[in-house]
Amino acid sequence: MVEEHQMLCCEGEVADYIPELGKVDPSLLGVSVCTLDGEVVEAGDTSRPFTMQSISKVLALALALMDRGEDVVFDVVGMEPTGDPFNSIIKLETMNPRKPLNPMINAGAIAVTSLINGQTVNDKLGRLLQFVHELSGNTKISVNEKVARSEHETAHLNRALAHFMKEDGVLTGSIEDILALYFQQCGIEVTCLDLARIGAVLANEGKDIASGRQMMPVHVARICKTFMVTCGMYNASGEFAIHVGIPAKSGVSGGILGAVPFQLGIGVFGPSLDEKGNSVGGVSLLESISKRWDFSIF
Ligand code: GLN
Repeated sequence: MVEEHQMLCCEGEVADYIPELGKVDPSLLGVSVCTLDGEVVEAGDTSRPFTMQSISKVLALALALMDRGEDVVFDVVGMEPTGDPFNSIIKLETMNPRKPLNPMINAGAIAVTSLINGQTVNDKLGRLLQFVHELSGNTKISVNEKVARSEHETAHLNRALAHFMKEDGVLTGSIEDILALYFQQCGIEVTCLDLARIGAVLANEGKDIASGRQMMPVHVARICKTFMVTCGMYNASGEFAIHVGIPAKSGVSGGILGAVPFQLGIGVFGPSLDEKGNSVGGVSLLESISKRWDFSIF
């Protein structure tokens, strides 16, 4: 199946608005699956690490919900999908109340990241990394500083979103500190298997699949999966829900995190993107996998 879908990679383009991401080979495609029994199946280019980008929004949301609770989080960010691109600024001005529509678009994710507990940017990043280590079972996961720096130097639109939200009182504290943390979280580097393991925890209602330890409360795992369904694939979430039907979150690096409730976690990597910023090969591969094994939750 990977070989079949790899041919589609030439139909898309690698994201290059973050210059470092533009250097990746567009023909890569890989998938890892981790069942709740711990069985792992992998195919294609699964050894190549990639940065989480927007996939990190799910984990930052889980941590912020655990740190601050639902009332505080949903005071700064809404729960509704948007039909606009992930980095759009337009609704920030027109929505009432003036807060980002959901935590999966850039504005909402920047607001959520600002709520993670910690004294300094490094403390906060350290806590997020530790959370990622625990969920994936991989303590070697770290930030690709080159990618994070590349985004830091070029993120004019994200800076504009942050300044807009500061003006509206959605963000409190230093904008540059909040953005530094956001760029670093986007630069957390993982493999398909790391994502599959994280997906398995979400699929298992927040419990570690080996130890049974509750890594996040059940309701937090449910909130994450719900946002993955309604907003996880940006403004292609509805189409993805119909064709694939798996709670999933994509990133502009070409990664996709999937969680099939009570069954398995999936990690996909295919850096060639469609016009909405989702992996071309990854989405079509997930569609075939979902259809073949009847994974749609609907
Ligand atoms: N770091 C990226 C950005 O803020 C994440 C976006 C994405 O993966 N869609 O632009």
